[in-house]
Amino acid sequence: MTGTQLTATTPPGTGNALVVERLGKSFGATRVLDEVSFSIEPGRFLVLLGPSGSGKTTLLRCLAGIERADGGSIRLGDRTLAEGRTHLPPERRELAMVFQDYALWPHMTAAENVAYALKRRRPTKERSAAEVAATLARVGLDEHAERYPHQLSGGQQQRVALARALVARPGLLLFDEPLSNLDADLRERLRVEIAALTRESGATVVYITHDQAEAFALADTVGVLEQGRLVQLAAPEEVYQRPASPFVARFTGLAGELTGRADGTPHLGRVLCATPAGPLVATGMGALDDGAPVHVLVRPAAVTIAENPGEAADGSHNLSGTVADTAYRGRGYDHVVELADGSRLTGVFDRRACPRGTPVRVTLDPDGCFAYPSSSSSPSSFSRSAGSGQDAAPLSERTPVEVP
Ligand code: ADP
Ligand code: MG
Repeated sequence: MTGTQLTATTPPGTGNALVVERLGKSFGATRVLDEVSFSIEPGRFLVLLGPSGSGKTTLLRCLAGIERADGGSIRLGDRTLAEGRTHLPPERRELAMVFQDYALWPHMTAAENVAYALKRRRPTKERSAAEVAATLARVGLDEHAERYPHQLSGGQQQRVALARALVARPGLLLFDEPLSNLDADLRERLRVEIAALTRESGATVVYITHDQAEAFALADTVGVLEQGRLVQLAAPEEVYQRPASPFVARFTGLAGELTGRADGTPHLGRVLCATPAGPLVATGMGALDDGAPVHVLVRPAAVTIAENPGEAADGSHNLSGTVADTAYRGRGYDHVVELADGSRLTGVFDRRACPRGTPVRVTLDPDGCFAYPSSSSSPSSFSRSAGSGQDAAPLSERTPVEVP
């Protein structure tokens, strides 16, 4: 349904298909991108999601041509941007990039920054002025055209950067965490504008972020990066409902985790799990023989609480717990619930407050509980991704590079 609407409202697309095959990149002995392959259809919006240090910026810089990949290929439309010895420089790739820290030329006005992106086309002065004015108007900055970056707020500077990226109608738009430096309310507004303006432009988009809510809100397709490997590539709904690994599930939001043993398969695709907190039914995410150790990962949306402990009327499984914390969230309350074995479920939403200390009955929706064979959720694969050795320190952003 949305597909047909999109085609109907998208203007004759400027977007090009992007095909990335087995892209690799190392810095010294560190493998930063490991055989990354994906493709995007023209005009589609791909969000690459991953924790700090997972290789997001490096991947984007390889697409932009700022960084030279050391294996694999990048194709945009019918052109090869990189493969073997071929490496088109950024200015010949017909793409534009928006950076986390705006990267505007400080000595140029907003209008001059935007006009700079048109230079390669050698438009007439009048034509350039008209395009710049129209694009600045689209991002709501027509009245600030003559201001310099230091005379603009962070949000306004990022709008100038967005206008600069849009003005030449590139076939590919790249975004590197463009909202990270902005306040929460502005972030949400600008996210909506980016979604609208990029789709209106028809360009193909690759957008990277470490924020799962932002990724789900923007994407047609979400790719999840773990240590330089693309571990899942799917629609946001599928990533949420069928996370490919415990890593993906953890990175896209959990209430908590329980360990136990498989204890039968009551229905197709389901597995009964015996845990120290009590029995529960989960979605089976791999081969689970009876007695096999399981790791159950629980989405916040799968958890509901009720104040009268005991069996539910329908006889479904319930765990008992106690409310350990209650936080007011405007629309309702987020609770932390401590289960019988001392494990905790966080982010448990209810419209009404359950005060701290209240005994509760916890119902888990099997659709949002994923039972993985214990080996596939070994702590080692998680702690590696959380950073060990040289990668452990949080990354500071490197100096911005201009891709006018
Ligand atoms: P992300 O954007 O996901 O935080 P990056 O692509 O910036 O990740 O970095 C991925 C890994 O590559 C990190 O371990 C980082 O230290 C390393 N790295 C990135 N750029 C360089 C560089 N120019 N030289 C050496 N190591 C780098
Ligand atoms: Mg980065």
